[in-house]
Amino acid sequence: MTFVTFSMILYGAMRQILVNQERRTVTDTLNTVVQRLSPVSGDLTMAQVVPRLEGAMPSGQASIPAPSESQNRIFSDSVIQKLAQADVSVSVFSPDRTNIFQSRDTPITLGKVHGVEVQEANIDDFHGLVGTAPIYSATSSDLIGYVQVTDKLTAFHATMHEITLLIMGLSFAAILISILIGYALATRFLKPIKLITNAIDVVNEEPQSTVRIPALKRNDELGDLVLEFNGMLDRIQRYIDQQGEFVQDVSHELRTPVAILEGHLQLLNRWGKDDPEVLAESLTASLQEVTRMKSLIQEMLDLTRADQVDIQFPNAVVDVHQTVQQVVGDFRMIHPEFTFTLDDDLEQKTFVRMYRNHLEQVMIILLDNAVKYSTDRKEIHVSMAENSVSGVAVAVQDFGEGIAEADRRRVFNRFYRVDKARSREKGGNGLGLSIAQQLVESYHGQIEVDSALGHGSIFRIDLPTITEAKAQALAAQETTKRAEAGKTDTHIKSNL
Ligand code: ADP
Repeated sequence: MTFVTFSMILYGAMRQILVNQERRTVTDTLNTVVQRLSPVSGDLTMAQVVPRLEGAMPSGQASIPAPSESQNRIFSDSVIQKLAQADVSVSVFSPDRTNIFQSRDTPITLGKVHGVEVQEANIDDFHGLVGTAPIYSATSSDLIGYVQVTDKLTAFHATMHEITLLIMGLSFAAILISILIGYALATRFLKPIKLITNAIDVVNEEPQSTVRIPALKRNDELGDLVLEFNGMLDRIQRYIDQQGEFVQDVSHELRTPVAILEGHLQLLNRWGKDDPEVLAESLTASLQEVTRMKSLIQEMLDLTRADQVDIQFPNAVVDVHQTVQQVVGDFRMIHPEFTFTLDDDLEQKTFVRMYRNHLEQVMIILLDNAVKYSTDRKEIHVSMAENSVSGVAVAVQDFGEGIAEADRRRVFNRFYRVDKARSREKGGNGLGLSIAQQLVESYHGQIEVDSALGHGSIFRIDLPTITEAKAQALAAQETTKRAEAGKTDTHIKSNL
């Protein structure tokens, strides 16, 4: 379509250029004839016209003799040469419109003459240009006659015919080539799409399916799409697996407290009614298990909520300096038997894009573990410093039991405890570090552990910091957002 459209535009433009060229020639011819005849005073007659235009006219016209040797100079005039062409004819008329001279059979009669005019005309067999002009006497300025030049445009028609054939041929070839290339491209692009559709169909029918789109080995958008799509399926698969594992882990974790509760209730049922000692003991133990289940449920909730927190709190900003100081202060109060030292190398206020409660929660998990897993040496060091990659590092060090190398990576796994019984005894569910890791990573930070078995451990978190100006801007945004939310709230309430 594009090619055909452009061809048509090209055809129109070429036609216009050629017609304009011919128009100029006809106008020149008109002017030359007028120039030659204007010296005549009084109305034009055949006797005056013939000698003046003689020689310019080709043979084949009865009234005009063939050009002789002496008249050759007239042929040197390019316009007059034009008159010699077979498709140009010149007619001269007297003021009363009677034909007094014609170089050939004029194909059309003289129409109205307003001035020097050249028009395209399609009359009967004639398809060409008709130029007309009045002739005024140079001496008296009286109208002494009219001249009409017709040009059949034979060469023009032949050229246009050739161009039409050429354009049609080229258009046909272009359409054919477009179809072939289009077909080849469509096959090339549709094949992978078909593969993708097939894979989607299989996954739709069986969500657990491990089907993947075969790698296309092509370095373009479709190749990328297939890689992305396979990556997405992998992620979904992992997510489904994690969900399954989580449910398994949770039911496994809940089984123990439920079994303990059941045991105590059975004991109560059998003996407790009569034995106040059994009654009191079983009730205490049952309550303890219920409390543990409650904390387990709370931690599981925290873990599921710790995902994508940066999206939930996009403008949250916290001053690390102040928050860490505050949490350490709280721990000093709750655990007076411990010595907490705070090594503060941060010079100024240090801001991190994080919801304050989440930083507190991470610090509480780390300090709580440090307390739980300390042995004889009841000392805990907390340090804060800038790290090498424009961020802040906070480390919590204890001198307790430490973690064996094999366990170090696994302590961040859900429900993982190095010593299950001991951890349980201390009220641990094995979820604290998972929550801390999930939170820190959600805010684009890192958490890692370094430890020596029997000597203690250091847990270190690294978080990217922001400038004070940026922190203030975010805080301002948050305030406006809250104010707007408040307004909408009151608006809704007032509407109610
Ligand atoms: P828990 O609630 O059991 O403490 P966490 O996820 O916080 O769960 O920790 C997982 C396991 O990692 C703990 O059970 C413990 O074995 C080990 N751990 C965590 N912190 C320390 C520490 N400071 N010193 C020694 N072991 C630790």
